[in-house]
Amino acid sequence: HSFQDVDLGEIIMGNICLSRYTRPTPVQKHAIPIVKSKRDLMACAQTGSGKTAAFLLPILSQIYSQGPGEALNATKDNVKLGCRKQFPISLVLAPTRELALQIYDEARKFSYRSRVRPCVVYGGADIGQQIRDLDRGCHLLVATPGRLVDMMERGLDCSVEFCLVLLGSFGFCWVHVWFCWVVLVLLGSAGYLVLDEADRMLDMGFEPQIRRIVEQDTMPPKGIRQTMMFSATFPKEIQILARDFLEDYIFLAV
Ligand code: AMP
Repeated sequence: HSFQDVDLGEIIMGNICLSRYTRPTPVQKHAIPIVKSKRDLMACAQTGSGKTAAFLLPILSQIYSQGPGEALNATKDNVKLGCRKQFPISLVLAPTRELALQIYDEARKFSYRSRVRPCVVYGGADIGQQIRDLDRGCHLLVATPGRLVDMMERGLDCSVEFCLVLLGSFGFCWVHVWFCWVVLVLLGSAGYLVLDEADRMLDMGFEPQIRRIVEQDTMPPKGIRQTMMFSATFPKEIQILARDFLEDYIFLAV
C-alpha cells in the first residue's frame, strides 16, 4: 500500500514526499479512504500511530479540492453575511497545548506551498493576539477546548458590552462589534470537526467545554458537518460522546 492509492491531490502528495513519509501507517491506510468518502469516524488509535496525518491529509485534500488559488477567499456564506474573511472550514480539538502545537506543525507541513492557512489557539498565551491571527483568515483551526470557550464567551461579553455602549456613547462600538462578531460566527463554516485524544480530553474534565463548542447554535449540526473522533480507549463516556456527536459512523480499531 502507498499514499498513491488514494487521490489526495498534487500539492498534498508533494508535501508527503517532502515529509519523507513513504508508506501510510495502518490507521492512515484505513482512515484516509473513510474520511474521503465523507463518513463520520470513530477511531481507536494510540499516540505515535500516525493518527494526526490520518485526519489532516484527507481534510486538507478536501479543502484543496475547492481550488488552492481560491482557498483563502471567503466562503459564499461569509460573503452573504457581508464579510470577506475566511472562517475555519475545519476545527480540531486537542487536550493540551503541546498536542495542539504538534497538530498545527503537521498541518503547516502538509499545507506548504498552498494558500491554506492553519491557526492554533491554546490557553496560557495572549488571547488578543490569537484573535488577531484568526482574523487574518484561517482554514483549519486547532484549539484546546478551554481557550476556544474563552473566546466564544468573550464574544458574548462583547455583545452585552456593545449594547451598553450603544446606550451610552457611540465611541468604542466598532471595535466591540468587530471583536464579538469574529468570535461568534467563528464556527459557522466549520464543516469538519475532529476530536483528537477524546478520552484524554474527558479525563481532563473538558466535556462541558466540548459540548458547549459542538452543541452551540452556530456550529453545523451532525449529519451536516463531518465528524471524526480519535481515542486510545473506548469507555462508556466516549461511546456516549460518539452517539451524541457522530452520525452513522464507521468504527475503526487499529
Ligand atoms: P502521531 O501518532 O500522529 O502523533 O505521529 C507520530 C509520529 O509519526 C510523528 O512524528 C509523525 O510525523 C510520524 N509519522 C506519521 N505518519 C507517518 C508515516 N506514514 N511515515 C513516517 N512517519 C510518520
